[in-house]
Amino acid sequence: MQLTNRQCRLAARPEGLPKPSDWDFVDAAVAAIADGEFLVRVEYLSIDAAMRGWMTPVRSYIPPVEIGDVMRAAAMGRVIQSRHLDFQVGDYVNGAFGVQEYAVSDGEGVRVVDLALGSPATHLGVLGLSGLTAYFGILDVGKPQPGQTVVVSGAAGSVGSIAGQIARLQECRTIGIAGGPAKCDWLVKELGFDAAIDYKSQNVRRQLRELAPQGVDVFLDNVGGDVLDDVLVRLAPHARVVISGAISQYNTTEGMRGPANYMQLLVSRASMTGFVIFDYAKRYREALTQLAGWLDSGALHAREDVVEADIDDFPDVLLSLFRGANTGKLAMALPAALGNEGAVA
Ligand code: NAP
Repeated sequence: MQLTNRQCRLAARPEGLPKPSDWDFVDAAVAAIADGEFLVRVEYLSIDAAMRGWMTPVRSYIPPVEIGDVMRAAAMGRVIQSRHLDFQVGDYVNGAFGVQEYAVSDGEGVRVVDLALGSPATHLGVLGLSGLTAYFGILDVGKPQPGQTVVVSGAAGSVGSIAGQIARLQECRTIGIAGGPAKCDWLVKELGFDAAIDYKSQNVRRQLRELAPQGVDVFLDNVGGDVLDDVLVRLAPHARVVISGAISQYNTTEGMRGPANYMQLLVSRASMTGFVIFDYAKRYREALTQLAGWLDSGALHAREDVVEADIDDFPDVLLSLFRGANTGKLAMALPAALGNEGAVA
């Protein structure tokens, strides 16, 4: 049976928020697999803030997606054909399969996952790159000590919600910054954050003065912009500012804004450190074992926002992330995930 592969390709470099003309949709033929390759039917796509950066040709930790290429995406899918010794038909796999229905892989960067540990969306969230980013960002870069105050921005998102909980598990006082009362309630009432600040309706600086009178020891920042400046003025001595991302700046057309208050690093003898999760690849197994253990014991709560959608809906789902529509991990469930796809010989 000849399979048709619906693909979303990058058509143009976006200026500001990606618009419909920045994408092309193509029905491609699925290539035959060679020795050492396997074919994956993609079921779930991870929708990540980082995708916006991958569309821009600037110096980065990963090459940009080229014009005409399938949009890069972490994904989950089922192996449906294999000529690779390590991947069997029926395996459920996690890899960078892209925004398309089928992907041919040589296995590089692909993991077979155990669905007994969590749903496919959980494997894209807490048991995927989000959980890993939160784990190493907080523990390795932030190095919080029990009793210290940890602030996380983008706190109700995928990375942020896990990062705050990991800080809580280190017996830290944990404060989340997120948009809207519903997200803030979720952080405090369900995830066990000590406090949450709604940056859309509250004055972040004033709230931090009340909630962190001794200052902020660790700040894991996903947002940048005003929020970063507001936290910088509340740093405790020898604080660690962990730059995970700067989503408030990803769609700017005016040039990315750096922190105006960076001299507070000097005043507080603090450090600001960026990190890239891919540098921790050799320790993923260690982190995933710990994250799965916390999840299983109920110490860590995961939430996934799964949108049932077609490949053609990807641009809209991506935009919803930048509107803050998601709580927890945003993922797309393709028709194949819902059993709408015919069986493949
Ligand atoms: P996410 O946090 O699940 O979703 C993004 C959230 O950001 C939205 O829900 C929204 O929440 C908030 N947001 C959107 N626009 C904003 C704005 N203009 N100002 C403030 N907040 C805004 O997304 P994610 O994929 O997990 O990514 C979170 C961060 O982690 C990103 O900065 C990403 O680049 C970073 N990251 C870093 C690494 C690494 O290796 N360093 C790896 C993965 C991800 P509100 O409703 O609260 O505004």
